[in-house]
Amino acid sequence: MTIRLGCIADDFTGATDLANNLVRAGMRVVQLIDVPAPGTPRPDDADAVVIALKSRTTPVAEAVDESLRALAWLRGAGAEQIYFKYCSTFDSTPAGNIGPVTEALMDALGTDFTVATPAFPDNGRTVFKGHLFVGDVLLSDSGMRHHPLTPMTDSNLVSVLQAQTTRPVGLVDHTAVAAGADEVRDRIEELRKEGFGAAIVDAVSNDDLVRLGAAVKGLPLVTAGSGLAIGLPANWGFEPTATAARLPPPGGLQAIVSGSVSTATNGQVLDFLRSGRPAFSVDPLRIAAGEDVAGQALAFAERHLADGPVLVYSTETPDAVKNVQGRLGAAEAGELVEQTLARVAKGLIGLGVRQLAVAGGETSGAVVQALGLTGLRIGPQIDPGVPWCAATLPGDGGGSGEPLHITLKSGNFGGPGFFTEAFTRLAAEQTAEQPAGQTSGQAPGEHA
Ligand code: ADP
Repeated sequence: MTIRLGCIADDFTGATDLANNLVRAGMRVVQLIDVPAPGTPRPDDADAVVIALKSRTTPVAEAVDESLRALAWLRGAGAEQIYFKYCSTFDSTPAGNIGPVTEALMDALGTDFTVATPAFPDNGRTVFKGHLFVGDVLLSDSGMRHHPLTPMTDSNLVSVLQAQTTRPVGLVDHTAVAAGADEVRDRIEELRKEGFGAAIVDAVSNDDLVRLGAAVKGLPLVTAGSGLAIGLPANWGFEPTATAARLPPPGGLQAIVSGSVSTATNGQVLDFLRSGRPAFSVDPLRIAAGEDVAGQALAFAERHLADGPVLVYSTETPDAVKNVQGRLGAAEAGELVEQTLARVAKGLIGLGVRQLAVAGGETSGAVVQALGLTGLRIGPQIDPGVPWCAATLPGDGGGSGEPLHITLKSGNFGGPGFFTEAFTRLAAEQTAEQPAGQTSGQAPGEHA
């Protein structure tokens, strides 16, 4: 079993986004949380592996170091092409980390040219004449202008990348991309001969990304947002197929843990409450007062889990969150809630939950860590960018633990009914996949 594509993602939810796009284009994908320890066996049956780092805003030297460790592991696992994945808003500063990581990977791979494009037209990210648009506005006119860590005040990605890179940066513009893969290849060759080391590539449609994908076949390194993933799998003959997203059959009880405070999640919690299903609200002030809130949440869940999904949530409106932050401090409140929800998630597994939805990027990180998960097989998409995944729960010492189905939803993803539809979707997927004559004794329409 050969790993075709080895990916290095600079943050966790970005890694899932990339993995999800690759699965939809027909590859079987495993996402690893951090670089595996030496000697860890490589995943079976994976056409692509995505290693999720936290290197977007760490000091440059650390980001380079981690990325090189990821590269070494992926090459050891046989990866034929490397994909460095960053944010679709090109989040970085003149110090990095996109440029320095790209150059370190190029040096390690011994390659003198790579491409860079954060374009993802389905998510409103397009690149035209080297300028990045977020929806209808230039990057520098979007909310990213005020980002606390990586304010993006220049939309011209050629100059943004040049500021972080020693090699000259050029442009493959939309006329070349529109003309087809051969034209893009010719343009790359020209730039390479002129001494350029990298090129920003225009893309305003999925077709552009598909043409670019074909053009970079065989290039040792590509760098992009998650969009380019739609154009690469075809280079190895992969086509979209439901089998790429196949997960083991789900079992066990169902629960949701939500520590996200974003608008979409507030709507999803409200929708769940309105449906009359059981939900337990985690109050940070009671945690701070020393109450065993996790214990209370688990006692509540234990009474209701047999009847269907149970929600444990700290999700609140921005005003309520500000009030709590004013009293406890923002970082302290966040940490208290994350640790409590992580304990709840662990306790839920102890109660027999094997289908778990988690809302919130930071919350997901805390839960994944508390559960000791090291890898996720990426399954079917519930809503754009949010797939179900299967993980192995660490066993007692032997590592031959049980399967867990988990979905990690970052803040603003998912439709209003996400917390109930996620489980229906997982069950439906399973029923859809049952070959004729194998109905596990269920009546039509029943789900395990
Ligand atoms: P999102 O993806 O929506 O940004 P995250 O989990 O990444 O969600 O971040 C939400 C942060 O807010 C976390 O640190 C979480 O612990 C914290 N938090 C959650 N609920 C509350 C609350 N009620 N009061 C204060 N902070 C909260």
